[in-house]
Amino acid sequence: MNLAIWGLWWPAIVWVTVWLGRAWCVVCPLEWVSSRAEALGGSLGIRRRRLPGWLATGSLVILLFAILQMLVPGVQIHRVPHYTSIFLWVSLGVAFAVGLLFRDRAFCRGFCPVALLLNAYGRGGMLAVRPAPGAGDKAPGAEACRSTLNPSRLDSNRHCLMCCDCIKADAAETMQWRLRAPFAAGDAIEPAASWPLTLFVMMVSGFVTYELCGVWKAADAVFQWVPQRVADAAGAAAAAGWIRGAWTIVVVPLLLWLAVGAVARMAGVGRSLADAWRRLALPMAVVVAAGHMAKGLEKFQSWAGFLPHAWAEPGGVKTALAMNAKTLAQPAAWMSPPALSAVSLTLVVVATALALREARRADPAAAGRMSAPILLLGGFYAFLIVGWGGWIR
Ligand code: SF4
Ligand code: SF4
Repeated sequence: MNLAIWGLWWPAIVWVTVWLGRAWCVVCPLEWVSSRAEALGGSLGIRRRRLPGWLATGSLVILLFAILQMLVPGVQIHRVPHYTSIFLWVSLGVAFAVGLLFRDRAFCRGFCPVALLLNAYGRGGMLAVRPAPGAGDKAPGAEACRSTLNPSRLDSNRHCLMCCDCIKADAAETMQWRLRAPFAAGDAIEPAASWPLTLFVMMVSGFVTYELCGVWKAADAVFQWVPQRVADAAGAAAAAGWIRGAWTIVVVPLLLWLAVGAVARMAGVGRSLADAWRRLALPMAVVVAAGHMAKGLEKFQSWAGFLPHAWAEPGGVKTALAMNAKTLAQPAAWMSPPALSAVSLTLVVVATALALREARRADPAAAGRMSAPILLLGGFYAFLIVGWGGWIR
C-alpha cells in the first residue's frame, strides 16, 4: 500500500496536475464521499452551513498540508503502512463529516490537504473546462456549479474541479472541454497570490530543497547539518525527525525567501518584502513544481522496480527479509544518475523560462524586475540537480 500511495500515486499526482490541471479531482474518492454526505445531510434535514470566508481562502488547508509534511520526517508516514492507513481513514471521516455539516463542496474548498497544491500546480494544465468564445450570458451561471464558481466567467483552472456539472446543465451547449498547450496564455493570473497560496509555495520550496538535496549525498550532508546539531545539542534523538521537519518547512523556506525577497526588493519588486513574496509566489510555483516533478521522477524510477514484488506479495514481509538476507537482489533503478540528472535539469530550465513568462503575464510592467529572483531559485534547483549526476565533486 505504501509503495502504491507514496511511491507511485504521490509523484503521479504532481506530474498529472502540472500536465493536465486538476484531473485528479475528477476521480477523487474524498470528493465523492463528501458529496454523498452532503446529499445525505440534505435528505436527513440537517441544516448545512455555508463555509466561513477564512476557511474558503485556504487558511486551514495550509495548516493541514504543513501537518502532512511534518508527518514525513516526524513519524515516517510514507514508510509505515499503519500510519498511512490511519491518515486515509481520518481523511475519509473528515470528508464525510464536513459534507454532512457544510454545503457547496466545503471539503474541497476549505479542508482538502492538497487543495493548494492542485490550485498552484494545476493552473497551466492542458485540460480545462471553459465557456465557448462569445458564449456570454448564454453559458450557465453560479447555480450550475457546486463549487460556487460562475462557469460563464471561468478563466482559470485554480478552483475548477472539472466535474462537468456545468456542461451537463448547459442546454445551449456553450461549456466545453478544452485541450490546450501547457500554460495557456488566455488564462487569468493574479498579480499577487493570496497569503495561503504564498505560504504554500514558500513551504513547498523548502520541502523540494530537502527532496533535491536527498539525492546528492554532499548536499544532503549540508542540509542535515543544522537540524542534526540541534537534535544532538538538545539530546533529543527521538525528536530528530520533527526537528528536521521544522527545519525543512519553516526555517529553510524562510531563509530561501529572505534571499529571494532581498534580491526582488533590490530590483524594485513590490512595496515591501511581504508584497514581493506575494507577487513572486505564482511564477515561482512553476519552478517549485518542476523541482517536485524531478524528485517524483527520481522516486518513481527507483521504486518502480519493487512493483513486481509488491504485486506478488502485497504484505512485503518475505520480500523485505529476503532482501535483507541478500537472497533477493535489490531492484535496479531504471535510469543512470547522469541520465536522471539531464532529464530533471531540462525540466527545471524549461520551468524557469515558463515562470519568467508567467511573471510577464501577471504584471507586464514589473516582469523585468522579477527575473532575478526567479532565476535565482531556478539556478539553485538546477545546481542541486546537476549534483545528482556526479558532475560536482
Ligand atoms: S480538492 Fe481535494 S478533495 Fe476535492 S476533489 Fe480535489 S483532491 Fe479531492
Ligand atoms: S461545475 Fe463547471 S465550473 Fe464548476 S467545478 Fe464543475 S466543471 Fe468547474
